Amino acid sequence: MKISGKCPKCGSSDIVRVNGEVGPSGSGNNIIIGKTIFSAVKVNRYICCECGYAEEWIDKNDIEKIKNSKKAIR
Ligand SMILES: [Zn+2]
Repeated sequence: MKISGKCPKCGSSDIVRVNGEVGPSGSGNNIIIGKTIFSAVKVNRYICCECGYAEEWIDKNDIEKIKNSKKAIR
């Protein structure tokens, strides 16, 4: 969706991006990777306005942070 601009479920191009947030005490759509909210990684959502399908994406420069803090599933 982020790349194609189209919903994979219904084919609609009516997509909105909702930016992830890190609020006080870690509220909002994010992943906490450390002990404090300062190490939280924001999770951005792409939502199809047609059928309600949603995808979640993490910014590329945040992926390293997650890689370093979580164990990869193999
Ligand atoms: Zn859709």
